[in-house]
Amino acid sequence: MPKILIIEDEPELVKVLRSYLEKSRFDVLTAYRGDTGLSTWENERPDLVLLDLNLPGLDGLDVAREIRRKSDTPIIMLTARVEETDQLIGLELGADDYVTKPFSPRVVAAKVRAVLRRSEAAPTPARILRVADLEIDLDAHTVTRAGETLDLTPTEFALLATMAASPGRAFSRMRLLEAAQGAAFEGYERTIDAHIKNLRAKLEADPKNPQYIETVFGVGYRFVRQ
Ligand code: CA
Repeated sequence: MPKILIIEDEPELVKVLRSYLEKSRFDVLTAYRGDTGLSTWENERPDLVLLDLNLPGLDGLDVAREIRRKSDTPIIMLTARVEETDQLIGLELGADDYVTKPFSPRVVAAKVRAVLRRSEAAPTPARILRVADLEIDLDAHTVTRAGETLDLTPTEFALLATMAASPGRAFSRMRLLEAAQGAAFEGYERTIDAHIKNLRAKLEADPKNPQYIETVFGVGYRFVRQ
């Protein structure tokens, strides 16, 4: 059963929604404050959140922002008519839909079903970059060329992933140095050259005549645009 979290401070409303959603075969969790709602979300990871805007503890918009910062959990905002501007802000913050009070629980349940259907149908964005016979898996941190796994160091991987994500864009050595910081890079700008040299030796059929990573004179390097 899909788990729905209701964060709403009007007990009467919570009661009505809960009973209708439970009858519609949802598993229902409730919170009456923004801050406790957020920690319930953290602990329970519900499939969808019904979120009131004006809440004690932590404002509904802040709750939405915090959830969106960490996950794609669908959010439906529960708003009063006077809060029209806030509805728009809520949607900008990544809420999936909203219902205006007063509402019938039947309408809320229908929206819940629609949003859940939509979020299940949405494909997870590809985190794999493919260029010619090169395949860079950003999640698995693996690189293959023509199906063969290449053995890259974390720094080399960070450099390659940064450049390959924006083919055709020139990266300064300073920018590449920043990108490599995540891979615990130590050293000066010029040592990027050494990493690029090693990267090319592994990546390129002919490192002297690179087909993937080009030198941009006076700037740095770029991953070729196909
Ligand atoms: Ca309220």
